[in-house]
Amino acid sequence: MSEVKNRTSMSLTPADADSEVVVQGWAQDVRNLGGISFLQLRDRYGIVQVTAPKKRTAPEVMEIMASLSRESVVRVTGTAKASEQAKGGVEVLPTRLEVLSAAAVPLPMGVIDKVNVEPDTRFDHRFMDLRKPEARAVFEIKSTVLALIDQYLVDNGFVEIFTPKLVASGAEGGATLFELRYFDKTAYLAQSPQLYKQMLMSTGLDRVFEIGPAFRAEPSDTVRHVSEFISFDGEMAYIDSQRDVQRMIEGCTQAVIGGVIERCQKQLELLGANVSLPKAPYPIIAYQDAVEMVNDEGMKLALGEDLGTEGEKLLGEVMARQGNEMYWIEEYPEEAKPFYIMEKDGTPYSYSFDLDYKGQEISSGGQREHRYDRLVARMEKKGLDPAAFNFYLEAFRFGMPPHGGWGLGIERLVQKMLDLPNIREAILFPRDRIRLVP
Ligand code: ATP
Ligand code: MG
Repeated sequence: MSEVKNRTSMSLTPADADSEVVVQGWAQDVRNLGGISFLQLRDRYGIVQVTAPKKRTAPEVMEIMASLSRESVVRVTGTAKASEQAKGGVEVLPTRLEVLSAAAVPLPMGVIDKVNVEPDTRFDHRFMDLRKPEARAVFEIKSTVLALIDQYLVDNGFVEIFTPKLVASGAEGGATLFELRYFDKTAYLAQSPQLYKQMLMSTGLDRVFEIGPAFRAEPSDTVRHVSEFISFDGEMAYIDSQRDVQRMIEGCTQAVIGGVIERCQKQLELLGANVSLPKAPYPIIAYQDAVEMVNDEGMKLALGEDLGTEGEKLLGEVMARQGNEMYWIEEYPEEAKPFYIMEKDGTPYSYSFDLDYKGQEISSGGQREHRYDRLVARMEKKGLDPAAFNFYLEAFRFGMPPHGGWGLGIERLVQKMLDLPNIREAILFPRDRIRLVP
């Protein structure tokens, strides 16, 4: 047998005319018109048409064509032919058709049908939903985001770390902890790498980052909360102020969004997403002013209250009118921030910030309290038992440099960048109060 090239739908071009090829994929659509049969074969890259005129095709191939169920996996051996009607300008005339895996009938949901499928149905049968190129495009973009983050942080002297996800105490408040049995002890799923990345600041690994799962038992159903998300955390020592941290995040998010615009044109087109590089430097809004701004828009927030979903959205609208997609909110009351944040002495505020993107928080961070006594005092003020955090506090007693850092939700970034209606669209198998399967 002469050499036959294994091809993808993408690699076939009219220049292949008359050569023998093998293409494999899912049978997206089959039409048997009596004298001729058509098969639209889909793979990761696109679609190629297989055309079988009865007169010039082996009877066994015609037979398989006639009984082929949609979404079966097939391998087609045949001759490429230039064709003006076929997508991509080339079609395949089959000499052999093998069914590698027949799809059962009926399908749990359609892949190409234009009817609107309920999100729950899509997530129940996510493998099928992801056969749609636009559903997959989100994850190709997410993968690019992660690669771009890696590159930016490594270029800036950061070391990638992995901290435990099975932990003995939480850092972000008890309400959202998942508890589990750990041999004869109680353990929790990590809400964030906070305590560990801070401990590393006392080691000489003075710039670290982690991209990994974080778990939060979020009691409410929203389009921006899930119980398992990918957190991008960074921590850096010897900072002069939180500005050093903000500069790093700003540089990174700009590199990521710019990189996606450059590298993911095809995916953005599939999604109909119009991504633009946010205006930089990102404007800074003091928390107090943010409260005033949303109250001017009709809210009735008291000072000290969380902006909440509604407040963030309204602030996003005001900022959008000024052409700003990314902006900082800082000077939060220390009361509203976790124990590890540094207080701004003589004021009720803290050295902390949020980064909001188109009306939604995507990151929180700030300067940390690195002074042992002050840290213990802050824990006590928050009703925490310092004894439960001994392993962490010890790292502050023997030489801890000033430091600061951030946590940024990867799926929130992807959601806002692509204007996805729900964070779940950026998660392959989302987890929430109701969903634990698939
Ligand atoms: P929010 O106020 O929006 O609930 P948070 O302030 O509780 O978020 P942080 O503790 O600041 O969250 O976590 C840092 C980042 O992690 C957030 O800015 C967000 O991007 C992401 N994040 C936090 N909780 C969730 C969640 N349940 N689902 C998805 N992403 C999350
Ligand atoms: Mg936050």
